Amino acid sequence: MNETLGIAYFVTFGLVVVAFYILWRRLEPKARKKWHPRLMVAGLVVISPFLLTFALAARDPVFLAGFCVTIALAMVTIRQTRVCAACGAVAQARAVFVAASFCSKCGAALTPTRFLGGGS
Ligand SMILES: [Zn+2]
Repeated sequence: MNETLGIAYFVTFGLVVVAFYILWRRLEPKARKKWHPRLMVAGLVVISPFLLTFALAARDPVFLAGFCVTIALAMVTIRQTRVCAACGAVAQARAVFVAASFCSKCGAALTPTRFLGGGS
């Protein structure tokens, strides 16, 4: 069962990456800014049940704590990542809780993206 689940995880992970890559390439910069957090959370929702299953199967609270920390860090990373509305470049956070202020590609000011709302 664990082998099958492992294979299913890697296949699902690969499909999510390929689907997001194809979708990302088709989006205009403003649409990238709008959809980046939504896509990342959707990917997390698809992948996290596998990770939770692996953590529970280990029958060790350390793995469950690791799962919780992983999800929390993923959410912080998604929140702190900025997408440039001018060129569509992705700017990772400068530190865990410090988002980039300017685009490293074109120099435009970067603003946070509301998860449910417009792209500005
Ligand atoms: Zn830019």
